[in-house]
Amino acid sequence: MKILVLNSGSSSLKFQLFSKKDLAVLAAGLIEQIGDENSGASLSYTDPSGSNLELKQSGCVSDHREAIQLMTEMLQKSGTLTDTGELAGIGHRVVHGGETFHLPIRIDATVIAAIDELIPLAPLHNPANLLGIRVSMEHAAHIPQVAVFDTAFHQSIPEHAYLYALPHRLYKEQKVRRYGFHGTSHAYVAGQAAKQLGKPLTELNIITLHLGNGASAAAISRGSCIDTSMGMTPLEGLVMGTRCGDLDPAILFYLGRETGMSMDDLDTLLNKESGLKGICDESDMRSISEAAEKGEKRAQLALAIFCYRLKKYIGAYTAALGGVDCIVFTGGIGENSAITRKLSCEGLEQMGICLDVSRNSIRQEEVLEIQTAESPVSILVVPTDEEYEIARQTLQIIEQSDSDEQG
Ligand code: AMP
Repeated sequence: MKILVLNSGSSSLKFQLFSKKDLAVLAAGLIEQIGDENSGASLSYTDPSGSNLELKQSGCVSDHREAIQLMTEMLQKSGTLTDTGELAGIGHRVVHGGETFHLPIRIDATVIAAIDELIPLAPLHNPANLLGIRVSMEHAAHIPQVAVFDTAFHQSIPEHAYLYALPHRLYKEQKVRRYGFHGTSHAYVAGQAAKQLGKPLTELNIITLHLGNGASAAAISRGSCIDTSMGMTPLEGLVMGTRCGDLDPAILFYLGRETGMSMDDLDTLLNKESGLKGICDESDMRSISEAAEKGEKRAQLALAIFCYRLKKYIGAYTAALGGVDCIVFTGGIGENSAITRKLSCEGLEQMGICLDVSRNSIRQEEVLEIQTAESPVSILVVPTDEEYEIARQTLQIIEQSDSDEQG
């Protein structure tokens, strides 16, 4: 039996097929530009002899229904899934679970209605996730399906950390609060870190840094998240590829008054034109590091601002946790950018955070410890795997509901 994981975006469908027995990846695919005449689909998989193969297809995929049909055909063609009856379950990534969902949940009409109600909190993401769920429920009605929420891991954050200093009615009436995102990744890498250190999660204070094009930090006390840097939306917190992160909100009033920028203009400015891109016209950390090394001043500045913000969060979360045992770097930047790790840990030796510069420059795909031998705090590079975590949680929910039915 197999587990399928779907991540449905507004114009894309990412999917991965896992073996139920050991959660090994059997196939991974992406259908892009859905609704466009230049749609493209690709699938990589391993054949029974162990060879890695790829299938590619182009041509118009007009909607998500066609995308799911195409995914099924490609999986069949690869021989990794001959019939949907081989699926023990389907796990769906859902960005926003609001305060309704603290855990993954088996999808039924009530769950769909609740995700639908949360659309105002995630107007760009939840409708696309829901579209994938609806089409998949029609396509494979007999297969148990599970929703795994990006926000769920952060629902343990206490009130004093999730509330903003705004009139309380805005929380009560409009649900204005910090929710946090990337929860599946933070949960996964914290678990991997505990494994690497050979200690139960319940004995560790961990700061996880998910640094990709979007970036967030989480403070995890004995397995439970107590704070995170993204807020009501993914705009708050760290500097990101094109998002500004923390900002004096009065800048918006100032710009509105002085330049006449509209709400939509300001939204675009902060979400799409700021962050690394705003500082040096480039959002990709690889290019920025290369330019910084060649002496380009703005690239150096972007790197410095990114790492300074990161360092401030490490300090703040060490205080919030009452001391830290382990710092985890993950995401495209966290896993690959040695310079980012170096600059953000530099000067933190008095807090027990001592990076080994030569270990930091090692490149490997497995978990890597990069602290010095004497460092009281462990510093880990952990490759994230959100799809694996969604598959694991999906399987857990299915097995739980099977045993509840039998019991
Ligand atoms: P993600 O959103 O997790 O895929 O991460 C994307 C970010 O990771 C981009 O800013 C990339 O430039 C960055 N990245 C990927 N590989 C490297 C690398 N080798 N060195 C520096 N940054 C990298």
